[in-house]
Amino acid sequence: MATLPMDTLLTQAQSLSGALTTLRRAIHEEPELGLHTPRTMAKVRAALAHLPLEWREGTSTTGAVALLRGGAGPMEGRRTVLLRGDMDALPMGEKTGLPYASAIAGRMHACGHDAHTAMLTGAVQLLSARAESLPGDVLFMFQPGEEGHHGARFMIEDGLIDKVWGLTPDAAFALHVMPNAPHGQVQGRAGALMASADQIEILVSGAGGHASMPHHAADPIPVACEIVSAIQTMVTRQFDAHDPVVITIAKIEAGSAHNVIPDTAHLRGTMRSLSPGARAALREKLTRLIEHIAAAHGMKARLTVHPGFPVTLCDPRAVALAERVSDTLFGPDMFHTLPAPIMGAEDFSYVLERAPGAMLFLGVAHEGVDAASAKGIHSPRMLVDEAALPRGSALLAGLAQRFLESGFPA
Ligand SMILES: [Zn+2]
Repeated sequence: MATLPMDTLLTQAQSLSGALTTLRRAIHEEPELGLHTPRTMAKVRAALAHLPLEWREGTSTTGAVALLRGGAGPMEGRRTVLLRGDMDALPMGEKTGLPYASAIAGRMHACGHDAHTAMLTGAVQLLSARAESLPGDVLFMFQPGEEGHHGARFMIEDGLIDKVWGLTPDAAFALHVMPNAPHGQVQGRAGALMASADQIEILVSGAGGHASMPHHAADPIPVACEIVSAIQTMVTRQFDAHDPVVITIAKIEAGSAHNVIPDTAHLRGTMRSLSPGARAALREKLTRLIEHIAAAHGMKARLTVHPGFPVTLCDPRAVALAERVSDTLFGPDMFHTLPAPIMGAEDFSYVLERAPGAMLFLGVAHEGVDAASAKGIHSPRMLVDEAALPRGSALLAGLAQRFLESGFPA
């Protein structure tokens, strides 16, 4: 099969630059939080209204998936590829001083999801323009609720990625901007890219009493302290250093006065891992540790886990494809293999549990600026060089096109 020329993709993306910037700024100015981002979705629908897409929505979120049917190739063995952009902002004030800064107090697009949404609309336009030559179908997933709200999981449970059209994605890709990576650099990594993140609560239950007579009470505070220390020993003694985990107890609450032993002590924190096995082991070993430490002192301890996102696992073939597409579009030096995962978490991991694929990072530091000193994501002063938007659109479109034509590299 003759492949479509990719050399025109970046040029075509550059011609969308003005529209992408306008859309990104409109979204940036009016940030929405959580699973419901109707105004952002309306801006996306308006930007793409002229295109022959089939749209589907679920009931759990205001997110939507658009289907673009390719017009080439046989029906037999057709591939489907999914591209995802997240849409929600963060509950924090903006301090960039930009003319198009957030107009809503206490809300900011400080994780670049405004840019992700704009870049995905660019990819929709690029691929729609060559739909007749695409030998497969593309699903564009516009997803709210990434910032801890499990939007991807809700959209999957609504059947939006593999049920509504009876199509199952054979590959899935997403981009995340990185303000402190060099302008235009594409970063990726086979295997674990980002961690699982689960919130934990530990309740130690004793029996209160007078602080001068602890033998008449069951003091939960020393037990809580012992648990905090023992957790760090557990992490280094019971887990493989090559499959690392992190547990941080970030909040301790107990007691009300200097001379009163309280009934209970309450610990809160986070646990992170880079493999599903280590994630399950953390829960099991932590439960055993705290119950037995408490029992040793005649008390009880209970663990509650509030599950966060799974580990973001990138398929090595998808990362290899991304490197090739990056080389073709941007030249041979623009792809950078990350030496290590990062311990943040990302809900695209739910999509990657369903389809092999990859999340890639795109450097959006301003050209000529020392990227390392730029403000990172979740900073109130985080900046995105909008000149990178067409590059993101071209990369997403290039990944979809090359996957539909040739699948993953052998
Ligand atoms: Zn983000």
